[in-house]
Order: sequence, then structure tokens, then C-alpha cells
Amino acid sequence: MASQRRAVVLIVARDVRHEVLVDPWGAVLVDDYVRVMERFGLEPFTDELLKALPSPNKLMRRRVVFCHRDLWVIADAIRRREPFYVLTGIMPSALKIHLGTRMVIENFRYFQEAGATEAFLLVADVEAVATRGITLQEARRRALEFHIPAWLAMGIDPDRTKFYFQSENRTVLRLASCFSGRVTMAQMEAIYGEVTPGKVIAALLDAADVLYPQTRLPGAPGVIPVGIDQDPHMRLMRDIVHRTKAEFGFRPPASVYHKFTPSLDGSLKMSKSVPESCIEIPEDPGSVERKIWKALTGGRGSLAEQRAKGGQPEKCVVFELFKQHLIEDDRELDRIYEECRSGARICGECKTYATELMVELMEAFQARMEEARAIVKELEFIRE
Ligand code: SF4
Repeated sequence: MASQRRAVVLIVARDVRHEVLVDPWGAVLVDDYVRVMERFGLEPFTDELLKALPSPNKLMRRRVVFCHRDLWVIADAIRRREPFYVLTGIMPSALKIHLGTRMVIENFRYFQEAGATEAFLLVADVEAVATRGITLQEARRRALEFHIPAWLAMGIDPDRTKFYFQSENRTVLRLASCFSGRVTMAQMEAIYGEVTPGKVIAALLDAADVLYPQTRLPGAPGVIPVGIDQDPHMRLMRDIVHRTKAEFGFRPPASVYHKFTPSLDGSLKMSKSVPESCIEIPEDPGSVERKIWKALTGGRGSLAEQRAKGGQPEKCVVFELFKQHLIEDDRELDRIYEECRSGARICGECKTYATELMVELMEAFQARMEEARAIVKELEFIRE
């Protein structure tokens, strides 16, 4: 569940039998979230659940976080002040970070601040070797020089987080080895479709990572914030928990899913394959401005028509950037929505404002990176 994988791909494609597939390694965005939930038995993120969580974050309030598995267990643990853990991971392959990673971090921080007993941030370096074709040394270098500092710069608290590299965590490697004897290729193919040896290794490591905290907090529930593309890993992990019940006695952690940041051109192609269709971190002001001004909006064909009929924020990528990343205040977001619908607002205003906010975000990130790199030199990583 390395977050880069989340960022990388949200895929819902249809295979030759017209089944819906969600592929953690694919390159197509989801076009029908309801269908994905129905197909895979995910529970909707309801008003009732929202009320049960203390001070829900903006992604939850705005239903960017839209579904879950077993999140009630965590809501109960928070309310009763009982132990639970939260875990997420970094895929140290790409040299930039997708905007979607910020949502993983926001949700990770939410559960950390809501009282998680332990919060783990792992570096999926073995997985990067298995699926991204880089060396272990290179994965480590990229993690230490860019990815971990970037996560700190985006708000991860180093004093309240436990870090490890997969390659240095023998418990995780041992668990993945044990799990390999409990799954079949038919099971893997039923969940993932076509798999390679590297993908099998990555999937087993993913299950080992999310269950590893239970070797330190036996019996404690956990929560894994992910993009919906990562649900196949959650389903495999649940199968493994069931098949190894007598041996390990793990319980499946809860998972909470956010939607993806749409491609700027509104297509279902994921950003990696079309760099101009996404904004990554870091990015220079000129590039941010160029991309936002080319983004798909819900504006009408002419100014007169927009004034008369109003815009369509539901179809607007710029509005989605406001909603997911750029505007914290719900009242401000509501005001933009109403102004758009009434025709009082035109797209140029939004693009200017979105550019300004996105450039501020990039500048704040760059300003924090130097300090974050110094902190990383002092970090202690779990080695066992
Ligand atoms: Fe989107 Fe703003 Fe245009 Fe409305 S006015 S469609 S929110 S860019």
C-alpha cells in the first residue's frame, strides 16, 4: 500500500468478461465509484459514520473519502480510547509525488491525531525492486533524499511516527514468506487478473506490512488509509488473515478509501502516462499555471451562456482541486459552488485563484523540505 502506488493508479477497467477490475498497478481512473463499491462489497461513508468520528477532516466531510471496510471498529476504539494503529507506505520509485499522496497523508494524520497508539510509515523498497525495476540501493537513496523528507514536509510528525524499510524488517519479510504458502496462483489471478512474479511478491509484502503492527500490538485493530485502487491488496490480506487464523490469529485491519484527483483534461488516463494531465509535487509556478489554465472546467460555451445558465462544478476539474486540495474552509468552498451554479462566477476567476493557491502550496512545500531533510538524518528506523 505504498502511497505512490495509490497515487500512481486508480484503475477500473473492464476485462473481456465485462467484469469490473480494480488494479493497483494499472493506469486508468475509476469512472463509476458506486459500481466499484457494489462489486467489492465496500460500505459507503455515511452521515452516521461521519458523526461517530471526532472532528472529521475535510476529505471525510466532503465525501472525497467515500467508502470503507470496518471503519466502525476504529470509530469505537477512538471513542473508548482503546489501542489501535494506523499504517501507510511510501513507494520510493518516482522522483515526484502525485497530489493524491497528500490525501493519504491527511487521512493518516487524522487517525494519528485521533489517538492511534502507533502510527507506521514504511518504505516499500523491496516492492520497488520487484515492480519498478530499480535497485535496493537506489530505492533507499530516493527514499532518504526525497520521499521521506517530502512526507515530513507535507505534515507527517516524525516524533509520533515509526518508520521502517521493508528490506530491514525481518518480521515483515518472514510474514510475507509464510503467506506465500497460504495463497494460490488461482486466488491471486482472481483478485488481480494477470500477475507477474514481482507483483506476487509485492502483494504478499503488502499483506505482511499491514498486519505487522499486530506483532507489536497483539489483537489491536488497525486502519489503512488508501486510494480505491489498493482494495485488491486489502481483499488478499483479508483472505490471508482467514487462512492463517490458527497460526497467527491476526484480525483484518479496517480500510478507508478516497477518490482520486481527476486528470486535468478530464480523461480516465492516469497521470503517469500523460504528465501534462496532472500536477505533481514539486512543480514550478509556470508549469502549475500552464496546466491549470488548460484544465477541463464545467464552464459553458460562452460567457453569456454561463451567466444565464450557470456553470457545472460537478463536472469541473478546477473545482475538484479546490475541494480536494486547495480550500480548507467549507464555507468558502460552498460559496464558490453557489457562485458557479448561479452564473455569478466565471472560469477565469477560478483558474487564477487555483493557480495562486497551488503555487502557495508548492512554495510552502519547498520551504519545508530543507528542514525535513535535516530531520531525516536523525530518524531512527525500526530494524528487526
Ligand atoms: Fe469550475 Fe469555476 Fe468554471 Fe464553475 S466557474 S465551472 S467552478 S472553473
